[in-house]
Amino acid sequence: MRELKDPSLFETRAYVNGVWIEGKATFPVENPSTGDIIAHVTDMSAEDVSMAIDAAYAAKRAWAAKTGKERSAILRKLFDLMVENADDLATILTMEMGKPWAEARGEILYGASYIEWFAEEAKRVYGDLIPGAQADKRMVIIKQPVGVVGAITPWNFPNAMLARKMAPALAVGCTMVARPSEFTPLSAIALAVLAERAGVPAGVFNVLPGLDASGMGAELCANTKVAKITFTGSTRVGKILMRQGAETIKKLSMELGGNAPFIVFDDADIDAAVEGAMLAKFRNNGQTCVCANRIYVQAGVYDAFAEKLSAALGALSLGDGFAEGVNTGPLINAAAVAKVEDHIADAVAKGAEVVIGGTRSNLGRTFFEPTLIKGVTQQMKVATEETFGPLAPLVKFDTEDEAVSFANASEFGLAGYFYTRDLNRAWRVGEALETGMVGINTGVISTEMAPFGGVKQSGMGREGSKYGCDDYLEIKNLCFGGL
Ligand code: ADP
Repeated sequence: MRELKDPSLFETRAYVNGVWIEGKATFPVENPSTGDIIAHVTDMSAEDVSMAIDAAYAAKRAWAAKTGKERSAILRKLFDLMVENADDLATILTMEMGKPWAEARGEILYGASYIEWFAEEAKRVYGDLIPGAQADKRMVIIKQPVGVVGAITPWNFPNAMLARKMAPALAVGCTMVARPSEFTPLSAIALAVLAERAGVPAGVFNVLPGLDASGMGAELCANTKVAKITFTGSTRVGKILMRQGAETIKKLSMELGGNAPFIVFDDADIDAAVEGAMLAKFRNNGQTCVCANRIYVQAGVYDAFAEKLSAALGALSLGDGFAEGVNTGPLINAAAVAKVEDHIADAVAKGAEVVIGGTRSNLGRTFFEPTLIKGVTQQMKVATEETFGPLAPLVKFDTEDEAVSFANASEFGLAGYFYTRDLNRAWRVGEALETGMVGINTGVISTEMAPFGGVKQSGMGREGSKYGCDDYLEIKNLCFGGL
């Protein structure tokens, strides 16, 4: 464990309307590496969410009336504070989520990069001028903030998933009521501490931890003062929110489950493909929505790839996220372990072979050995369900067409990856994959400068890039007549 340089970042209260408040009860937050209870966090209710929505609604007019440049300055200050406090924010993140400290620090800087990017974009919310359809008319098209945004975020990136939503929303003049995952509320609350210090006005950014996920979510969806829901999490919960939001026609940004294919063609640079597969599969211990879930390898390089990938897995160092040299942490909870085990058992029962790993680690708790299985087919659960853990399944294929059809045989469409040295194939396959993002000869696709988001049941909307503000803006036509 590391000491916090600034213990005031370790806050357990909720931040509503610029005030730190406490509910009637608390709930425990555990360190998944040790099982220790690291904090008792205040438990907010659906009524508290309603109160926060009122505050965000009241604050939205003044916030939207600020110039983009003024909002930009505040967000830039927040970015600076995040970078200054990156070590502490990483420590809090590792405590509640388990990922290795260096990786947690990487997440903080990644989250901060969205704040920086949208601080810049705040000044660039441009409109349009359309010529009149009649001689006396001109149409001026302006973009305006949608209003109050409800944000619901998951535990796998407790800082970055919220930063990625908060940054564009606040940049364009929206206000936000955020509910972080009950497993990892501390990182979100720490972000509110820094937002307050950066000068974000009262009511503009509210963070409410709480156990009642469905009640709090239902309030965000039902409340007519909320214009939009932005959610990162499972497709299952995304569907619930869409259904609930339909009643009040909520605008939606949904970053949902993935089931990323990772294809290695015969003509690939195999060492590069192994390196990319390690990053795409084992980052965050397989617990990211863009993690490679199914690895398709062409027959000619299948054995060589399997051997090299197995060696790379064997070199991973599993352990407590604060321990020196550890690059792979625990899974978030027992249910996550059970899912990995279930996918392995299903595959093995249907004929797959464990190359390395395959069992819980003798470190106990939720530590699981990084696992490679081969001889996997499209009939196994791993081919259609997101494992969200350290399991790399290898499927052999023969032709490009076969690889593409395997890859697209999924209801999800978030990320896809492939390795080839054939330029024509790179274009063909890049265009053919039914995903929102494609890594071509790379296992890392995510940056604040590019649009992040999926197709099919992986969701809607894009986070980051020059497109990222659009999700938080309405387009208005000011039609001038009588000129
Ligand atoms: P994950 O598999 O990443 O945990 P979930 O969709 O279960 O994905 O959780 C993502 C976020 O959604 C978490 O903050 C969780 O508490 C919240 N959540 C879970 N169920 C609901 C619900 N019915 N309504 C609103 N939020 C929910």
